[in-house]
Amino acid sequence: MNFDFIEEDPVLSREDAIAILNTPDEQLDELMDRAKNLRYKYKGNRVSIHLLTNARSGNCSQDCAYCAQSCRSKADIAKYKWVEEEKLYQDNDFVNDYHLSRHCIGLSGMKFTDEEIEELARRIRKMKEHGTHLCCSIGFLTEKQAKMLRDAGLDRINHNLNTSRSNYHNICTTHTYEQRVENIHMLQGLGFEICSGGIIGMGESKEDVVDMLLELREIQPEALPINFLLPIKGTPLGDQDTSMLTTEYCMKVLCLARLLVPKSDIRCAAGREVYFKGEEKKLLSVVDSIFASGYLTEDGQGIEDTLKTITDAGFTYEIESA
Ligand code: SF4
Repeated sequence: MNFDFIEEDPVLSREDAIAILNTPDEQLDELMDRAKNLRYKYKGNRVSIHLLTNARSGNCSQDCAYCAQSCRSKADIAKYKWVEEEKLYQDNDFVNDYHLSRHCIGLSGMKFTDEEIEELARRIRKMKEHGTHLCCSIGFLTEKQAKMLRDAGLDRINHNLNTSRSNYHNICTTHTYEQRVENIHMLQGLGFEICSGGIIGMGESKEDVVDMLLELREIQPEALPINFLLPIKGTPLGDQDTSMLTTEYCMKVLCLARLLVPKSDIRCAAGREVYFKGEEKKLLSVVDSIFASGYLTEDGQGIEDTLKTITDAGFTYEIESA
């Protein structure tokens, strides 16, 4: 590959994208420079920080292999239908007090009743009184339910593709890839911002990573989170070999995401604290979005440390919800 700086956004073929994941480590700095130019072009030196609250945990009917909340998981996690409202609103205040970009609310499960969606809408309305930018990670909604959440003020919905279309059956058998893509298009049609990305390290090939990112290029999500697998004991991927997740390889994936979908918020989500430890400055030169204070069922870096990491690396964190 020729990594000469180009002003125009790159138009990469599938072969180009595969070649990027095969970049020799000695050429990684050149690849990162290319991604960095696009990061600064579209995002300046801002880092958006998200806080995640697991509003509904465990007991999911779906069998996603990586997930501690799935029907196949024996992981020892908290299970509840609704998180205490006090905890939800405290987290929301935390987002506002620290001027974080967004409060992400995760709900396990794939289908919801209208009554459950109305309960969620009530909570959303209450949080929107403070102007918080809200995102829900939620399963398949009917159009009626999606409108209920939109009318309550929900800004964004997370619905990941997770892997390639051809690899999906190895990860989940209780719903299809196409259902996910259709759901995203329905939500886009209703005016939602979309957050959609995937998980790396589940035994997929480099071609799978490329194909997933090419699907995401078609979707053009506002945010594109890349998770690096944290194998969870008790899940089918609990003993997954993650030795291919070197910092260099993870960086190549993030660079490719930036090159393919340059205007998106490219987020390094789960695994940041493991696979990029000590490399935060380099990481933030490519990605512009991270979580603070952990993930759905796994701990992560606390907020004060996260803010320090960002400012020490010479970046600033975004204020959207103040
Ligand atoms: S990822 Fe979501 S749908 Fe899949 S098992 Fe976990 S909670 Fe259920």
